[in-house]
Amino acid sequence: MGIAENINGLRSRIAQAARRSGRDPGEITLVAVSKTVGLEAVREAMAAGLNHFGENRVQELKFKKGHFPEAHWHMIGRLQTNKVKDVVGETVLIHSLDRWALAEELERRGANLEIEVPALLQVSLAGEEQKAGVLAADIEPFLKSAGQFKRLKIMGLMTMAPLSEDSEKSRPIFKELHEIYRCYKSRTYHNVDMKHLSMGMSQDFEIAIEEGATIIRVGTALFGE
Ligand SMILES: *Cc1c(COP(=O)(O)O)cnc(C)c1O
Repeated sequence: MGIAENINGLRSRIAQAARRSGRDPGEITLVAVSKTVGLEAVREAMAAGLNHFGENRVQELKFKKGHFPEAHWHMIGRLQTNKVKDVVGETVLIHSLDRWALAEELERRGANLEIEVPALLQVSLAGEEQKAGVLAADIEPFLKSAGQFKRLKIMGLMTMAPLSEDSEKSRPIFKELHEIYRCYKSRTYHNVDMKHLSMGMSQDFEIAIEEGATIIRVGTALFGE
């Protein structure tokens, strides 16, 4: 199947999952994860109407953005501190803010360029210690401390469920993150605007939508293996 057909299939699965959970499909943003494909595939996806793309490497993101500056580019992969200078200003959203030292570096770069740096706090939930991200218990102190920043804005939460044959294994993780998200959304922190909940990939995006995701990050279901 071609990319356009994949997108059509994906759109109807997104709409069905939204409807099952009483949600408006329009409130879910599909980020097409283009990390394994080239410019031609991005071009096809754009022709089929997609305009949000995710990359996990800074150089690749900049390269593709150079060809398609009109698309919205998301950084979704682990970000080394020494790459921050190359990525700030290139993305609409950094999904992978996973440690305090990175927050400080993003702030510093945003201040240098005099621009806002929107990012999601990546959370690692119990039982997936191998994943990057802050632990649930560390979210609140992180959000409180973020009040000192002027450029870095925390726009929500992101998580990755462990890879599994059984996508239902992701559900308790997504449910838990949604609860955490709702809890912090109801409070007020300076520099924090809990707008986005980024969770769900090819294996489990329908479950993520049922559990409240506002952004899903889909690669292989769109572009193939
Ligand atoms: C690669 C990647 C995805 C997309 O994974 P697929 O299984 O190909 O849909 C989503 N999020 C992150 C952080 C990734 O690195």
